[in-house]
Amino acid sequence: MVDLDSTEFLDNFRRSIEEFDSSRLPQEPLSRESLRKLVDLGIYLPAIPREYGGRESHREMCEVIEIMSERNLPLGMYTMIVTVLFLRNVASSGDDALKEEVFDDFLHNPVIGGLAFTEPSSGSNLARMQTTYHDDGDTYRITGTKHWQAFSEQADWWIICAKHPERKEFGYFAHKRSDGGFVTTEVYDSLGLKNLGYGLNTLDLRVPRHYRLTKSRESLGDAAEILCGSRFSKAAMASGFLRRLSTESLRHVNSRKIGDGTLHDIDYVRYKVSRIQQNYVVCNALYRQLMLAEDYYTDLENSMFASLATKVLASEFMLESAIDYQQLCGGEGYRTGAPDNIAAYALLDARVYTIFDGTNDLLCQHLATLFLRQFQQSGLRSPLEFIGRFGYLEDAFFHLTDINLSHIADAPSQEKIVILGRILSRIYGISTLQKASRSTAPSTRLAVDDADYPKAIAVLKNEIIGLVNEYELAGRLAGTQTPSGPLRPHTTTVTFDSKVGMR
Ligand SMILES: Cc1cc2nc3c(=O)[nH]c(=O)nc-3n(C[C@H](O)[C@H](O)[C@H](O)COP(=O)(O)OP(=O)(O)OC[C@H]3O[C@@H](n4cnc5c(N)ncnc54)[C@H](O)[C@@H]3O)c2cc1C
Repeated sequence: MVDLDSTEFLDNFRRSIEEFDSSRLPQEPLSRESLRKLVDLGIYLPAIPREYGGRESHREMCEVIEIMSERNLPLGMYTMIVTVLFLRNVASSGDDALKEEVFDDFLHNPVIGGLAFTEPSSGSNLARMQTTYHDDGDTYRITGTKHWQAFSEQADWWIICAKHPERKEFGYFAHKRSDGGFVTTEVYDSLGLKNLGYGLNTLDLRVPRHYRLTKSRESLGDAAEILCGSRFSKAAMASGFLRRLSTESLRHVNSRKIGDGTLHDIDYVRYKVSRIQQNYVVCNALYRQLMLAEDYYTDLENSMFASLATKVLASEFMLESAIDYQQLCGGEGYRTGAPDNIAAYALLDARVYTIFDGTNDLLCQHLATLFLRQFQQSGLRSPLEFIGRFGYLEDAFFHLTDINLSHIADAPSQEKIVILGRILSRIYGISTLQKASRSTAPSTRLAVDDADYPKAIAVLKNEIIGLVNEYELAGRLAGTQTPSGPLRPHTTTVTFDSKVGMR
């Protein structure tokens, strides 16, 4: 597996995972026997450095998650947690002896690594976490309670975040479950993503000193960097998942008889199928940006803006398309285990993406705050002019000149900041589409029709116009603007003339 060239490795993986399809795999935590098959196919190898026997490849880490998510979204998430959240951090910040032990285990055994951050009393506000660590001779002692961890009962290895009780300092520790002290006291019954298990975990454990990861940013800076990786990975999951939904919805509407024809004969049905396709095109562009412009083997702190925008946009489009696909499947779409569609679990699985990994509302706030800070530092008066100079968004500039964005940075209230973050995620989407439209697809699997780019941009522009109106609405509902008078009408007609703004 290590010596195969990349195309062979990925083709072999893609051809060999049919039995893991979401229409077939039982809705329960994946068995070790099944995990063994995936490990033998090399699922962890791209996340293991070459010097420890792995394939060490950012691009393959992305591709394995993308390919897996097309087959089975929960297993895409599964793969991401073990590779991007667990193995990546051991590779980047682990002591040599820890790396030796961990990589040897993951090379040869069907083992699982998870990440323990969230606690019952602190999710969005991690700074309030109660889990603490103390120096205790040759070890660190960690005590506290964590919940909602993926693989709560199953993980063999953890990365645990804990706070020093006196210093405002957070530490990150590897822990081997067989060393004891990580106990799942309650199993949670999740709505979806059932191939991973969740629960409430009590921690009273000791880890050797060399199990502490070398992370030295102040406050929660390292947690933010760790989460950049998983937030970016939503592009890979969304790309694979939405390609599947796009294919499934087209197949369904072509085969479902209605009157003398099929659902596909209905204009509105075709419009909805096209919306799913355009959401795929957007997420495909986000994914190509992740795969080609970022690198899981480097520090991602400077890519914070892109990772937040990616997570927000990818997860909201996954959810929207899962609802549209379920609607197109009619009553059968509401049936788990339906013979001709995967809509029920697609929706249940996609639902949580806007909630976990930092809720989207919170991430939108971060996104807007990053933007506003740099806008203020720029000394410019016009947000649009700043967008034209802001690396992550500049490619969207020409598509935005007919939307009134002049008020979006006027010392907004908290709710407006959240909406601004959502607007920025859509602008980022246009920017990545613009970039993708100028480049060749990295593989035939990821190629999209050139005619789809202007359509996908039109979808995002339409969202931005709606969100700009919502931004004003939020002010009115909060009573910070004059309550009389209609909302500012849309002054823009969204077109998808392929020449508009394409450079
Ligand atoms: C299926 C699943 C898997 C998970 N996997 C893991 C895992 O592997 N490891 C782990 O450590 N954790 C995991 N989590 C936990 C997850 O990351 C947290 O649930 C998430 O970060 C939200 O925290 P919370 O649940 O405490 O929500 P809260 O912090 O209570 O937030 C609730 C709601 O408040 C609103 N809100 C909060 N802040 C803002 C804001 N600034 N602006 C506007 N609105 C806001 C939002 O609507 C938000 O959805 C998982 C959760 C789920 C459901």
